[in-house]
Amino acid sequence: MAASKAASKYIEGSTGPWEIVIGMEVHAQVSSNAKLFSGASAEFGAEPNAHVSFVDAAMPGMLPVINRFCVEQAVRTGLGLKAKINLESVFDRKNYFYPDQPSGYQISQYKYPVVGEGEVMLDLAGGETVRVGIERLHLEQDAGKSLHDQSADYSFVDLNRAGVALMEIVTRPDMRSADEAAAFLRKLRAIVRYLGTCDGNMDEGSMRADVNVSVRRPGEGLGTRCEIKNVNSMRFVSHAVEFEARRQIDILEAGGTIRQETRQFDSRAGETRSMRSKEDAHDYRYFPDPDLLPLVLDQAWVTEIERSLPELPDAKKDRFMRDYGLSPYDAGVIVAERELADYFEALAADVEPKAAANWLNNEVLGRLNRDGRTIADSPVDAGANNRILKMMAAGTISGKIAKDVLDIIWSDGGDPEEIVKARGLTQVTDTSAIEKAVEAVIAANPAKVEEVKAKPKLAGWFVGQVMKATGGKANPQAVNAILKTRLGIPEEG
Ligand code: ADP
Ligand code: MG
Repeated sequence: MAASKAASKYIEGSTGPWEIVIGMEVHAQVSSNAKLFSGASAEFGAEPNAHVSFVDAAMPGMLPVINRFCVEQAVRTGLGLKAKINLESVFDRKNYFYPDQPSGYQISQYKYPVVGEGEVMLDLAGGETVRVGIERLHLEQDAGKSLHDQSADYSFVDLNRAGVALMEIVTRPDMRSADEAAAFLRKLRAIVRYLGTCDGNMDEGSMRADVNVSVRRPGEGLGTRCEIKNVNSMRFVSHAVEFEARRQIDILEAGGTIRQETRQFDSRAGETRSMRSKEDAHDYRYFPDPDLLPLVLDQAWVTEIERSLPELPDAKKDRFMRDYGLSPYDAGVIVAERELADYFEALAADVEPKAAANWLNNEVLGRLNRDGRTIADSPVDAGANNRILKMMAAGTISGKIAKDVLDIIWSDGGDPEEIVKARGLTQVTDTSAIEKAVEAVIAANPAKVEEVKAKPKLAGWFVGQVMKATGGKANPQAVNAILKTRLGIPEEG
């Protein structure tokens, strides 16, 4: 069983099966108003160089001062990754020259990161669970941005991003397919968004992944890897892994060897291209930054942060399965976003949870997808949906009318009960009214009556006609029962 599952992950080459091995380095921008070592704003999208302090511009004599809030977010994230928090860590200088880096070095953490080993659990389609080891999380500064498209003669530099706090999260090489790589990034994004430590906005570059890919024969040691830089969407991660694995397999099967190198993913062409080989790699000459003391944390402070953590996706999923009886799949979909999980709990407050989950997944999410909206800007809130579900459960309105009421509020707003009352949408359970409608349909369709008597399975046609005649308001169970008696169809079972 396990073997066949694993086997399905192998890629078939012309000379036999290959296994993909993936490890990731994710840069997640800390959700902080100020930068890591200066008081300048970390806001995205401002005019170039609007948010640059003397520290960010590396003016002589300026000294960095660590932002306590950013350290707290790194610790929070580490705890959310079930990782070891290192009470003592060190900031190093990573030396390289680039125009968007006026100091000539980046302040980062090298040998002694603030967060050590942790883990992320992936729930894959088909119910399989995969553990991805986290090697470390460290704090570092972002660089500025060179602008080459503003003038034909000059390049410009925008230092707004210079000094913004990043968390670099490094995994073990524990992923084995493009799907697992995408699932990891999705899960990591969900965790940091639950924690509120990073907004996970990949379009704005708040989260970007360097994806390391190698291939090997099943059972063999690790192969030589290539690193694909700055992949900035879930979809591109899958595409990049698939392309890169195929490329490496083709080289190896043709008798070649893989050169360790850094590559970039061209999303338009759907391929990876070489940027630089290992031989051209920088010597960063790391050394402890003499302007900063070692970062020493108090265990009591860490414990306090731990106590303030929200319920995270894994725990919430377990609770939704246990307390609401949801399937692993339904629970997984609902906990993927914290807002969605909160919406579900408000919706399911006093109605049957499975009905609430179905309503949320099919009706609410269906309409949101159609309109390109997210749960946070849903035009109908959980409370209104809850009242629609309650009217349905009480038999006041039919399932069909419930969807109509949702559509009405979706486009025009309004109050569920008032809409039902004002438009006369209350379900007809009065049997004499339903009997009248049944008689009318039977009288108008004598030939169909004979057909149904011979083939009781066709009775559904009559149900449809009666529902139509009553504007969808007849109670379907009552219609069924009355039709069966009237047409002489035996009860099944
Ligand atoms: P470096 O010293 O170059 O930073 P690391 O050992 O820290 O390299 O690994 C960087 C990333 O590459 C990690 O995410 C790790 O899991 C991944 N990685 C390491 N070896 C391999 C390999 N053979 N195949 C795929 N990924 C790998
Ligand atoms: Mg490394």
